[in-house]
Amino acid sequence: MRILIADDDRMSRRLLEGALTQMGHQVVSVADGLEAIRVSALPNSPPLAILDWMMPGADGLAVCRAIRQRAAPYVYIILLTARSRHEDMVAGLLAEADDFLKKPLDPDELRARLRSGERVLALQERLMAAQDTLRHQATHDGLTGLWNRAMVFDQLERELARARREGQSLAVIMADIDHFKHVNDVYGHAAGDAVLRETAMRLVAVPRSYDMVGRYGGEEFVLLLPSCGLVEAEIVAERVRRAVNDKPITVGMITLPVSVSLGVACASNEHDTAETVLIKADEAMYRAKAMGRNRVEVSPTDMHPASHPTGALGSLGP
Ligand code: GH3
Ligand code: MG
Ligand code: MG
Repeated sequence: MRILIADDDRMSRRLLEGALTQMGHQVVSVADGLEAIRVSALPNSPPLAILDWMMPGADGLAVCRAIRQRAAPYVYIILLTARSRHEDMVAGLLAEADDFLKKPLDPDELRARLRSGERVLALQERLMAAQDTLRHQATHDGLTGLWNRAMVFDQLERELARARREGQSLAVIMADIDHFKHVNDVYGHAAGDAVLRETAMRLVAVPRSYDMVGRYGGEEFVLLLPSCGLVEAEIVAERVRRAVNDKPITVGMITLPVSVSLGVACASNEHDTAETVLIKADEAMYRAKAMGRNRVEVSPTDMHPASHPTGALGSLGP
């Protein structure tokens, strides 16, 4: 394990360094509290710190508090002290130290305290991994790996606020697979799932890296294009249409031609909300369906924003 030592007493520092190195740990050692605060803030700093209580600059308690003020990753902190009074222990715990180690150093005690530190850190790591998994599950669609509906909505609201702040445009493309029910009905649900996954892959390959693609419903996808006007978005939508339709999707032994109908809309006036933009894109998508599918339609409201009752916001327009 990587361990940070902070101790102003050279002898005591050397002793600790020696003991830890012998136990197979990698040691970063510093001679005062301020340096300890600096080192612990570096990326990839050691997950465990042994801090002398009495140090110039910042004492062990101050270093402890400084480390705790920062967000994760968690640092397991052991305070090194000759003190053993009840009040000192309380002060250490209030500064959120995890454990104490008495001076002069006893190697067996050191080993035991490190072992509890390692246990806590391992637990911490498992918790963080579980949290990451949960966060991913809460924001992504399990089948396609794209953002899920709630996240599309969240991101759209965030991007809308940003577009307004920065006077940028924001475009939304809604894409719905054509006659998808037919795939399920004829080839089964598993084939349908495979088509959804492949379509999703083709969709994400088209836009720019900072555009966002999500699964909005069963066979309905949304693309959010920040800083993108209506004309540009229509071009992207056409590229998406071709990317999906260019070659059939192969599922096992079967080859299925797949197409999407797309609706394009823009946040074109100051009263546009996530809901209204999505509705406009959805309406445009349904027009594409009505006009024969496998095509792109642009929201008529956005094409003639001046006719909109609230009027166009120039900077947000196409
Ligand atoms: P249209 O061209 O008008 O869009 O017709 P469609 O058949 O694509 O549309 P419809 O809304 O009638 O059918 C969508 C189907 O998508 C119905 C539903 O069972 C299916 N579906 C929704 N989610 C999933 C899924 O996760 N997996 C599979 N295999 N099918 C799904
Ligand atoms: Mg459909
Ligand atoms: Mg649908």
